[in-house]
Amino acid sequence: MPARDIAIIGAGPAGLAAAERLAEAGHRVTIHERMASPARKFLLAGRGGLNLTHSEPFEAFLARYREAQPWLEPALRAFPPQALRDWADGLGAETFVGSSGRVFPRAMKASPLLRAWLGRLDGLGVRLVSNSLWTGWDENGALTFRAADGAVDAHRPDATLLALGGASWPRLGSDGGWAPLLAERGVAISPLRPANAGFTVAWSALMRERFAGQPLKRIAIRFAGEEAAGEAMIDAEGIEGGAIYALSAPIREAIRRDGSAMISVDLRPGVTADDLAARLAKRRKGETLSNHLRKAAGLAPVAIALLREAAGQALPAEPEALAVLIKDAPLRLGAPMPLAGAISTAGGIPRDEIDAGFMLKRLPGTFVAGEMLDWEGPTGGYLLQASFATGVAAAEGMKEWLGRGAAE
Ligand SMILES: Cc1cc2nc3c(=O)[nH]c(=O)nc-3n(C[C@H](O)[C@H](O)[C@H](O)COP(=O)(O)OP(=O)(O)OC[C@H]3O[C@@H](n4cnc5c(N)ncnc54)[C@H](O)[C@@H]3O)c2cc1C
Repeated sequence: MPARDIAIIGAGPAGLAAAERLAEAGHRVTIHERMASPARKFLLAGRGGLNLTHSEPFEAFLARYREAQPWLEPALRAFPPQALRDWADGLGAETFVGSSGRVFPRAMKASPLLRAWLGRLDGLGVRLVSNSLWTGWDENGALTFRAADGAVDAHRPDATLLALGGASWPRLGSDGGWAPLLAERGVAISPLRPANAGFTVAWSALMRERFAGQPLKRIAIRFAGEEAAGEAMIDAEGIEGGAIYALSAPIREAIRRDGSAMISVDLRPGVTADDLAARLAKRRKGETLSNHLRKAAGLAPVAIALLREAAGQALPAEPEALAVLIKDAPLRLGAPMPLAGAISTAGGIPRDEIDAGFMLKRLPGTFVAGEMLDWEGPTGGYLLQASFATGVAAAEGMKEWLGRGAAE
């Protein structure tokens, strides 16, 4: 196939993964990135150890994408977790599986991997233009860009990939500014919403003042027949953390429907209610209830405070009732925390708007990938895995489209 001019907009994992595939196929690739340097969110993810993907069985892995599973499945099968691990290994960032099944590079950060990746892309002839903000199309259909000094530039490549990310942590570059630009062109966009975000809780003043910033460790959250084990963090406005994020999609949708959502917190997931009741039955004379709960049920002060919130302050005295509350503390969640502080974004470009090759049906020659698509996944490596996989799939879709001579 003759070499073609390709513009990729957005130098996050999706855009860079696509650039690698397209440059390997011999195309002339230019990446436009609005920030002064690429992949800021990827680098930030590296601060948490860079959880690249997850090692659980592939069928279970796929199910984490919920309603988006059928849509993402071909891309994830074509570029599964092992392919991502092999790719990282190939760049000298050997990976390992942590105790939770999550996969990390041994360096536990993104910068060495990104450096090696950018070096490889440079070797493939990929041009990276930073400080180049994509602003839409001009009246001739050319892509328009604005440089940091305000200079405006227009290009008409043979094909374009938009890999502009979601809208969380906007100071890292992805702010969802693409949504109105595509909507103007008739592309339907599902509203951008926070995913993997906390929720507000109407805490008592005591809970807010004494326990904000404290983690609830080794708990389980239950909601609508699902359970997620892990940690949660109390903050002044509400609750967040891994166990909450894992159920944030159904909780968010329930809040949208009903105004609030009642979750159940199991503060001792490894112990049965009967066991707890037996332990709680033996209370020493004169011992405060808090001390008793701490010693007999192994509850930290923050967990006891949560019990009091759930019980409306006065805790039941009977061991059986206490045990039931410890295993099933109801907590009412209000609104999701704002999108700007969320880990990721739900909503975006829906499946119906693109073809099997990740090309926008309304804009032939314009492909889309990564978090700007309307899928969501929990934390645990699912976000990066789907961003890479859709980047690769869009590159393959573009190669196929160009090969058909469709750009002529
Ligand atoms: C704090 C935090 C920690 C995370 N940790 C993990 C983790 O451990 N594991 C995991 O799987 N996921 C993690 N994620 C999520 C993961 O980083 C994202 O899902 C992923 O980066 C999305 O990739 P992307 O390429 O689609 O978009 P992005 O990485 O957001 O990249 C899009 C790029 O497009 C650029 N851009 C946007 N608009 C324009 C424009 N108009 N013109 C030019 N350029 C533009 C942006 O500047 C950006 O560089 C984390 C996210 C956060 C916020």
